[in-house]
Amino acid sequence: MCGGGGPIFLELEEVPWKKYRCRACDRTFRSMGRNPRCPDCGSQELGEM
Ligand SMILES: [Zn+2]
Repeated sequence: MCGGGGPIFLELEEVPWKKYRCRACDRTFRSMGRNPRCPDCGSQELGEM
């Protein structure tokens, strides 16, 4: 018997969300725009995750 939770598959591939981290305030967020901006401070100094 295999116990444990079932598989968790999220169909995220349809949406090209990318995860970013703001270098100014260290907030992580997801965005799908070409020019993502931090929703907190508006910085565009982002690192892709
Ligand atoms: Zn920020």
